[in-house]
Amino acid sequence: MSKVKKKIKTIKIDVDKCNGCRACEVICSAFHASPKFSSNNPARSRIQLIREPLKDVYLPVYAGEHAPAECMGRGKYVIDGKEYDECGFCRASCPSRNLFKEPDSGLPLKCDMCESDPALPEPMCVQWCLNDALTYEEREEEVEEEVKLDEMETGLEELASKYGLQKVMDTVARMSKKG
Ligand code: SF4
Ligand code: SF4
Repeated sequence: MSKVKKKIKTIKIDVDKCNGCRACEVICSAFHASPKFSSNNPARSRIQLIREPLKDVYLPVYAGEHAPAECMGRGKYVIDGKEYDECGFCRASCPSRNLFKEPDSGLPLKCDMCESDPALPEPMCVQWCLNDALTYEEREEEVEEEVKLDEMETGLEELASKYGLQKVMDTVARMSKKG
């Protein structure tokens, strides 16, 4: 299988620079409102701040994949003398907490890197973080080329119409035995 270049988008989080202003939550929820910017509700944001001012803990976390079940173990992190609560760094919307759930429907939220607007120079939360706690980075990685199923289907249809479906199936069966 041939290799292709894929763009990897990353947002680097510097927790020491975050002061808990929550501008990122406000702009993310406004950007994803329908129509865009018609309302804002940080509970709908795809970035959420884990915030414990008395412990000087301000941790922006991006919504990742939905997890249908709770995990069995919970971790605690102590970094530079600050203790981050169990589940603190986890990006999943899961049954054990209300984070990353659309408040009306309960449906999981996931950061989409603001991809509905490809003209944006940087994701909205990065642009609105005036403390530079969020930095957008792009890099290229070489990955195996994905064979698109619809392209494969079109190719198979063409072969079947040219040589007949049975012949194509016989050839595939012969190839799979060789493999
Ligand atoms: S906008 Fe920046 S400083 Fe403000 S809460 Fe979000 S990450 Fe922290
Ligand atoms: S990158 Fe876009 S979608 Fe993701 S949290 Fe930031 S503003 Fe929201």
